[in-house]
Amino acid sequence: MKFATKVIHAGIEPDPGTGAVMTPIYQTSTYAQSSPGEHKGFEYARTQNPTRSVLEKNLAALENGVDAICFSSGLAAQDAVMKLFKSGDEVLAVNDLYGGSYRQMIRVYGQWGLKSRFVDMYTASNVEQAIGPDTKLIWIETPTNPMLNIVDIAAVCAIARSRGILTCVDNTFASPYLQNPLDLGADIVLHSATKYIGGHSDVVHGCLIVKDIELAERLHFLQNATGAVPGPQDCFLVLRGIKTLHLRVQRACENAAAIAQYLAAHPKVAKVFWPGFAQHPNHDIAKKQMRMFGAMVSFDLKDNSMENATKVLSSTHLFTLAESLGGVESLIGHPASMTHASIPREERLKVGLTDSLIRLSVGVEDVEDLIEDLEMALGKVKSEAPGQPIFVEN
Ligand SMILES: *Cc1c(COP(=O)(O)O)cnc(C)c1O
Repeated sequence: MKFATKVIHAGIEPDPGTGAVMTPIYQTSTYAQSSPGEHKGFEYARTQNPTRSVLEKNLAALENGVDAICFSSGLAAQDAVMKLFKSGDEVLAVNDLYGGSYRQMIRVYGQWGLKSRFVDMYTASNVEQAIGPDTKLIWIETPTNPMLNIVDIAAVCAIARSRGILTCVDNTFASPYLQNPLDLGADIVLHSATKYIGGHSDVVHGCLIVKDIELAERLHFLQNATGAVPGPQDCFLVLRGIKTLHLRVQRACENAAAIAQYLAAHPKVAKVFWPGFAQHPNHDIAKKQMRMFGAMVSFDLKDNSMENATKVLSSTHLFTLAESLGGVESLIGHPASMTHASIPREERLKVGLTDSLIRLSVGVEDVEDLIEDLEMALGKVKSEAPGQPIFVEN
């Protein structure tokens, strides 16, 4: 089955009880048993729920896995992965990481003695050198947030496999439509379904997808034992969102490409971060492992004062100033004070995340309107350094 068919059909059958074409919201906490231990596969809704089971089958198919486990949020999904390990083990993670993932690794699991170290993975061989005797998990995020760096998933997973180390890829920014890490050698794929998979900014949800049954069982066990399950209504909303995933992501990527090019030619813009530029340092890898280049674009201003960035951030009308990404509507964000505020400033600056960096989550509106909105907002910025635009600088 091809992707556009999977989003509509994989794992989805008319409801066996009623024939309802849309998967019903099974809003129940428990299930009747005909005699002790005799049931229809459902005992208690922390353990199983039919709406959730359909969503899990669908997600497994989208990432070419054998099973998926759905959680109440993306960070709850990460939490289950972290619990596969114990005190003294080490996670080696990409250095330009989602702020909340970093916070969980350092401030929650760090306290318990599960160590995390952060490395520049944009050259895959760096990973080989960074692996230590306690490294048990390699955590990849690509494209990264908000610098839009690209990690070579196949190369890093091959290194990990040769050393017997598990790999988890946070595939939130790409979505399953653009990139399928299990096919490239990863063991676990994580999504914050709050973003592209849900796609309508109306639900918080997360999932893990794996290709090994035994690993799936361990993760189901951890979920049932610790309880971060999504409600059936949320699973329904995610299922509903998935039906248009390919259409939404495709349009958003096309819009983002036009906006990245517009920004790169703008006299007040110093740098544009978007993997679709031939000048992007890992453009070739992006081309190899992604179907399109994604709908996230970050940029920095020539006059890179906080004051100037604030002007842009508070002037747009169609780009709403808000956290999150991946919805049908375009959002504008300020990573330094919003999504990445939990990362120390020195750490942020090391990866190029300046105080004036602006991040766009490009939606599916008409691109001419979006560009007009940015043109108006950039018009309010003073530029003290006119000159040639730089496409991408690393
Ligand atoms: C949002 C996000 C998460 C966390 O997901 P929640 O659903 O907010 O818990 C993890 N990784 C990335 C890349 C994200 O954008």
